[in-house]
Amino acid sequence: MKIICIGRNYAEHAKEMKSELPSEPVFFMKPDTALLKEEDFYLPNFTKELHHEIELVLKISKAGKHIEEQFAYKYYEEIGIGIDFTARDIQAKCKEKGLPWEKAKAFDNSAPIGKFVKKESLDINNISFELKINGESRQKGTSKDLIFSFDKVISYVSKFITLKTGDLIYTGTPEGVGQVNIGDKLEGFLNGEKLLTLSIK
Ligand code: MG
Repeated sequence: MKIICIGRNYAEHAKEMKSELPSEPVFFMKPDTALLKEEDFYLPNFTKELHHEIELVLKISKAGKHIEEQFAYKYYEEIGIGIDFTARDIQAKCKEKGLPWEKAKAFDNSAPIGKFVKKESLDINNISFELKINGESRQKGTSKDLIFSFDKVISYVSKFITLKTGDLIYTGTPEGVGQVNIGDKLEGFLNGEKLLTLSIK
């Protein structure tokens, strides 16, 4: 399986990163070794600025290429909560030099994933999600604010890369990204339901 992540998909986050609003989806990938399920996260020693990015995650349910936007909803059945961990200090250096971001984004365990819920139970265009750290709210978002909808993202990515069953699409983070530290307890919520718990060691 592969993990596809969408960047700058919420205007307020693009603003806090001092990035331009994209005119088409921006994406990058993480390998399957980035996935972290229900285990503690050990802070890597190559970064001094590890940032959380809470994101809604689509689980691809059938293979497709060149998927038309109007049919994209048929390619995922479940939505969950994940974190796109980012070594912000390293990413800043990569950006400065115009280099790829993998070192900052695709390292081992950089993609914690929680439980999934069936999409039928949700109003796709109005899903709220939230990250709490040590019980305090740090990031709040709603799918209403997506620049590129889930369907648009699936359609766009599948022009370049065949999607396969089990692939995950991290759909972008809202504003409020910030540093995590050893001892932090992260909790991810979708419409108020806790789907992800993660301790930083
Ligand atoms: Mg992200």
